[in-house]
Amino acid sequence: MTRNIPDFESPQYLFAGPCSAESSEQIFSVASFFREWEKSRGGKSRLTAIRAGAWKPRTRPGSFEGNGEKALEWMRQARQAYGIPFATEVANAHHVESCLKYGIDMLWIGARTSANPFLMEEIGQALKGCRIPVWIKNPISPDLALWIGALERISRHSSGPVGGIHRGFGLYESAPYRNAPLWEITVEFKRECPGTPLLCDPSHIAGDRKLIQEVSQAGLDMEMDGFMLEVHPCPDTALSDARQQLDFNGFIQWFSRLVFRDRQRKSAKIEQIRCLLDEVDDELIQVLARRMDLVRKLGFLKKEENLSVLQFGRWNSVMERCLGLAAKKDLDMDFVQKLLNCIHAEAIRVQKSILENRKTTLPDKPLSQA
Ligand code: PEP
Ligand code: MN
Repeated sequence: MTRNIPDFESPQYLFAGPCSAESSEQIFSVASFFREWEKSRGGKSRLTAIRAGAWKPRTRPGSFEGNGEKALEWMRQARQAYGIPFATEVANAHHVESCLKYGIDMLWIGARTSANPFLMEEIGQALKGCRIPVWIKNPISPDLALWIGALERISRHSSGPVGGIHRGFGLYESAPYRNAPLWEITVEFKRECPGTPLLCDPSHIAGDRKLIQEVSQAGLDMEMDGFMLEVHPCPDTALSDARQQLDFNGFIQWFSRLVFRDRQRKSAKIEQIRCLLDEVDDELIQVLARRMDLVRKLGFLKKEENLSVLQFGRWNSVMERCLGLAAKKDLDMDFVQKLLNCIHAEAIRVQKSILENRKTTLPDKPLSQA
């Protein structure tokens, strides 16, 4: 995508700007600030684009819903005056048409829209043949397939690049954050969409400016390719998301505190430990296969002897014994409990299928020897 920054001291992509475009003065003040900041970095860092919402998807009706096309005109003028590209959020075909008309440089799709395949299809159709970059936030619910489907619906029609934005997931309990980061989903995203850039939106994850630094660093450490960050000239008076926006000084401090770590270099010492880890992983798989062989044998016996799959007392004692061993080895109890539950769920699935006659014979070769 355009304006990427190969510098090791900068994120590759950086979108910053207010949650909402509130007035022409606000947009000009933001553009002027970032122009000066870029100059002060001596060309080492650049913004990919200034972000500003023209249409705001609000959870409840009656609050500020954006300035629409008026805001696009402010962005067009500020872009001309300061030479920095602009990005805004679109949620339907009409928004896309307006943005193309006003020369907006990049689009993003919000978490409430990316969850809706009809809207994604409609937006995709409106982008037919366009080369404009489109960044797609994760849907509010932790559903990776829905997120990837949204990217596919855009790239099926549009000829421009697409990327993802991780803005956290709306769970019933996500404290201390507004949206739970669930970093493991970003790892899966990167595995399933290699080569697709993925940004971190620390503002919407954190929901509170005090937590933005730690979330951003976690994002860098998880190899995110850059940021979309909310920055406002006077956050406390902001018409949307006031608590999570940084002011200009806050932005400068935020940037200076980011720690960029090398993602490429390999060293002999690290490679040596990685070899040992590979060996342990091989052992882990062998052990799991042996365990599953025993689980299947037990499944056939339970069927013969008419025993229920889940024998709660037995599982409790397995759990207790393993947690006791894990404690002695200084392993995290929460982690071990989750792992054992996962292994147990698979054992139940296999034994249930044996009891329900879906698998009636033992395999010729045990899994552990296959
Ligand atoms: C926004 O970027 O201001 C926004 C509404 O974000 P999200 O779609 O992540 O809630
Ligand atoms: Mn916002």
